[in-house]
Amino acid sequence: MRRSRNRKSGVAVAFLYRVDRAKPVRRMTSRKWGALALAMLARRTCPACGLDAGYVIPPSLGMCIPCAYPDDQQRAA
Ligand SMILES: [Zn+2]
Repeated sequence: MRRSRNRKSGVAVAFLYRVDRAKPVRRMTSRKWGALALAMLARRTCPACGLDAGYVIPPSLGMCIPCAYPDDQQRAA
């Protein structure tokens, strides 16, 4: 810190400000990604069987394909 003040105080200060600005941004993005992952997981989880369908549950059906069309699953099996 002492040496940096004597030689490159401006650069050191600017770098510290950049780090301070970068940290909250990274936290916000990580939180957004976490919220997105939870939202995607909630959308992918079927409310009928409670299993992760592996895809977003269609809003028109409100449940996963096997739950919405049990007849097709029985025919396929
Ligand atoms: Zn289901």
